[in-house]
Amino acid sequence: MVITRFAPSPTGDLHIGSARTALFCWLWAKNQQGKFILRIEDTDRERSTEQAVNVILEGMAWLGLTWDEGPIYQTHRFDRYKQVAKDLLESGHAYKCYCTKERLEVLRDQQIAAKEKPRYDGYCLKFPHPPHDNLPYVIRFKTPQTGSVAFDDLVKGHIEIQNTELDDLILVRSDGTPTYNFTVVVDDWEMGITHVLRGDDHINNTPRQIHILKALGAKVPLYGHMPMLLGPDGKKLSKRDGAASVLDYRLQGILPDALLNYLVRLGWSHGDTEIFNIDEMIQYFNVNAINSSPSAINPEKLLWLNQHYLKTKPEKEVAAELAWHLERMGLDVKKGPALEQIVIAQRERCKTLLEMAQKSQFLFVDEVVFDEPSVNKNFTQETFPVLLSIIEKLRTVSSWQPEPINEAIKSVVTELGIKLGVIAQPIRIAVTGGTVSPPIDLTLFLLGKEKSLQRLEGALTLKNELFPEG
Ligand code: GLU
Repeated sequence: MVITRFAPSPTGDLHIGSARTALFCWLWAKNQQGKFILRIEDTDRERSTEQAVNVILEGMAWLGLTWDEGPIYQTHRFDRYKQVAKDLLESGHAYKCYCTKERLEVLRDQQIAAKEKPRYDGYCLKFPHPPHDNLPYVIRFKTPQTGSVAFDDLVKGHIEIQNTELDDLILVRSDGTPTYNFTVVVDDWEMGITHVLRGDDHINNTPRQIHILKALGAKVPLYGHMPMLLGPDGKKLSKRDGAASVLDYRLQGILPDALLNYLVRLGWSHGDTEIFNIDEMIQYFNVNAINSSPSAINPEKLLWLNQHYLKTKPEKEVAAELAWHLERMGLDVKKGPALEQIVIAQRERCKTLLEMAQKSQFLFVDEVVFDEPSVNKNFTQETFPVLLSIIEKLRTVSSWQPEPINEAIKSVVTELGIKLGVIAQPIRIAVTGGTVSPPIDLTLFLLGKEKSLQRLEGALTLKNELFPEG
């Protein structure tokens, strides 16, 4: 069975590069009817925080990347790592090193002066006994000194490293805590991971990890190292490129489907297809088709995808996301119309959920706030009698639907011999406060009869303010 894992270190945001790694691991497990494990690599206790763990869990849940096992916390497994380190000492694959910081510094300086690569010289392997009793020690892995280590990376192809390039890395620090390379190996082994997909910043660790796995008699998984994401300019992705974390994208009003579709295409393709819903991604995803050259993010494409999903996703699901935004804006969603209706009315004219929430704010407020320049520009002395006629006519509308509302307004306009344009904006301002909203019949429909009439009547009082003499 295929078993993949996403193994973030909880030290900050859930970056979109990490989200892409998680997605690819998840997709491969789903495609192969395998298992996807979430493992929290929190051994760096100074940099790991509970808040960062929550950000990861929330981000994954929002994206729908559910895990079959976990979250497994490495800090809960320290006893196990200790045991494995002991086993490696006993089997002769590891040794205790008592070298002091000072000795290692001198060694390093000498190597640099001699233009050699700084590396541990195996001193304690040659002289295995502690100079004194009870000295602190680290546990080092005994790396083979001849031959090479090779693997066929799923993304980058064949990679081979001479063992002389590798030194005896530390498995357990002098304070007894295990190192990253060691915990990863123990976990990948014991969790039966078959495919390790991760960023190529880890590629130098892989030969070391393979050596340790072999020393443990473990089956070596397949590795796929993905190139980093680049900014739109093809340079290293930076904060300046806008959203960098999953939460940032959510705040900007992106739907999870759009972000997933966007991420899957950053480094993977299936013919020329751009739009993949989740089921299609699962069906077509293949680790062998991950691109070996880096992909640049493309904010316009994300917006295009977002609009696609805003228009096509079932309104109920879009509504759930819209609720999140409205609530963040401090609005009570129970005070407005059914959110599905808003989605239907607004989905064609918004690129993001944030925009939709902002443009729908007027439906939830207790009182509209008039935009003064709009009022001054659109209200004349003549506006008020027309508005009054409109109110009277709308009162008679029994089925409060866009069609009858539209007919009622039109009939007043025809009766009075005026143009619709003359009154449409004042109506809009009366009920929303400003000049931007869906078509006027739809706006009134969404707002409901009672609130619409109330607000239109409220606007009549503007007469005294604007034209105190009239
Ligand atoms: N914890 C590592 C990181 O967040 C990933 C380790 C791995 O995937 O092997 O970069």
